[in-house]
Amino acid sequence: MYENLLKKLQSRGATLIAVSKTQPVERILELYQQGQRDFGESRVQELLKKVLLLPSDIRWHLIGHLQTNKVRFIAPFIHMIHSVDSLRLLQEIEKRAAAARRTVDCLLQFHIAEEETKYGLVEEEAHAILQSTEYQAMRHVRICGVMGMATLTDDKEKIRAEFRTLRHIFDRLRQTYFANDAHFREISMGMSADWEIALEEGSTMVRIGTLLFGPRT
Ligand SMILES: *Cc1c(COP(=O)(O)O)cnc(C)c1O
Repeated sequence: MYENLLKKLQSRGATLIAVSKTQPVERILELYQQGQRDFGESRVQELLKKVLLLPSDIRWHLIGHLQTNKVRFIAPFIHMIHSVDSLRLLQEIEKRAAAARRTVDCLLQFHIAEEETKYGLVEEEAHAILQSTEYQAMRHVRICGVMGMATLTDDKEKIRAEFRTLRHIFDRLRQTYFANDAHFREISMGMSADWEIALEEGSTMVRIGTLLFGPRT
């Protein structure tokens, strides 16, 4: 499974984020030994435990909702935060990254699904963040692109339309704010059930758990 998936993603130039939430360190190590280095976790508490037990060259991605009071725990080591959905959170990341003497790569998470429970920005909010003097003064966060989750549905055309919406948001933000910034290049979209559609619609990072590890317990 892993090798096949990797081949398909690599032929499109996309990165595989292995979503290891709820999986024991033994399972993560198995994948690590096959060469996987990018892993995604949803919860800070669980991530912190795993970091201590696993090799230090793993690139950890925070993919779940992040509370501001947890940022300081991950700022010293996190590779990328996919779930930035407010200026307040970005300000906290800036502060904690500066204290850790690092620059932290971030993605802006957008609400593209129909479900109301999912986190994320609407496009106008992203413009407000990127135009704010607070953001423009930041030196320790680097916004590298966008992230989104499609509606949980069997309707493939609906999923495709939502991914396309995210792609268009990415294009507009890049043109408006990042035209000369090569770091702004990531579209994090696609999970076990919809990664093929995401890839067709321009995903550069797919976040896959179940397909790699089996069902979560
Ligand atoms: C759990 C999770 C995934 C992976 O889901 P699977 O369906 O198991 O592939 C991807 N992205 C986010 C944000 C998640 O919380």
